[in-house]
Amino acid sequence: MERFNNKKILLSFLIAIPFLFGGFIPDETMMPAFRMKKIVLDAGHGGKDPGNIGSRSREKDINLAVTLLVGKYIKENMPDVEVIYTRNDDSFPELKKRPQIANNNKADLFVSIHSNSATNRAAFGTETFVMGTKHFEANFDIVKKENSVILLEDNYEEEYEGFDPTSPESYMLFNLTQKAYIGNSITLAEHIETQFRDRVGRKSRGVKHGPFYVLWTPSMPSVLVELGFLSNSAEEQFLMSKQGQEYMASAIYRSIRDYKEQIEGK
Ligand SMILES: [Zn+2]
Repeated sequence: MERFNNKKILLSFLIAIPFLFGGFIPDETMMPAFRMKKIVLDAGHGGKDPGNIGSRSREKDINLAVTLLVGKYIKENMPDVEVIYTRNDDSFPELKKRPQIANNNKADLFVSIHSNSATNRAAFGTETFVMGTKHFEANFDIVKKENSVILLEDNYEEEYEGFDPTSPESYMLFNLTQKAYIGNSITLAEHIETQFRDRVGRKSRGVKHGPFYVLWTPSMPSVLVELGFLSNSAEEQFLMSKQGQEYMASAIYRSIRDYKEQIEGK
């Protein structure tokens, strides 16, 4: 008789567990909704590495000005999002450190901002890259230039374990660590190019894939933006102007806002 009662008590207790705890556990804990809380903004180049050089401008300065404005707009309009810069002055964070900053901070997004250059001075327009090795030979000049920053670093041979940014064979090392995030990276990249084209009136050269070192190791959706060509005098003029920088930064900010709303399912 006593055994039966114990069993009955145990059974009632087991049945009651979900009701007991169900009331105390907030819905969010049971089904955590994704919230984009942290963004790492990476102004390309800096310090001893000027990046591309235009006739009157240096890439590192334009990248920094636009990046700081993007951060300012995010802080003003999305107070729930924390902005982390890989640099907020003319310093030279090593290429490897930039995605590391994003990984160490467990960021939800990594946006690297650059400006382009080409021997053909007529070339102009924006492009946004996501990580990828497919057909990268078509963009090898840009990829090589952006990755060659490594050669300015001390001990680069040790730090990058034999990776030679100028040799196409080296890129066989690049595996698809970004594969899990590629869909979201493309979504953001498309928002950025659409904003540049439709809202700022720039020529969009589209969303592209490239094996950029900074896009290789981040454990979160990541894009690399090329704001335009400093080798094209009209585009250089635009990117050097305060208004041009504000327009480009606003476009990137709006893309991040739209992306956030989209992935949070609002
Ligand atoms: Zn660059």
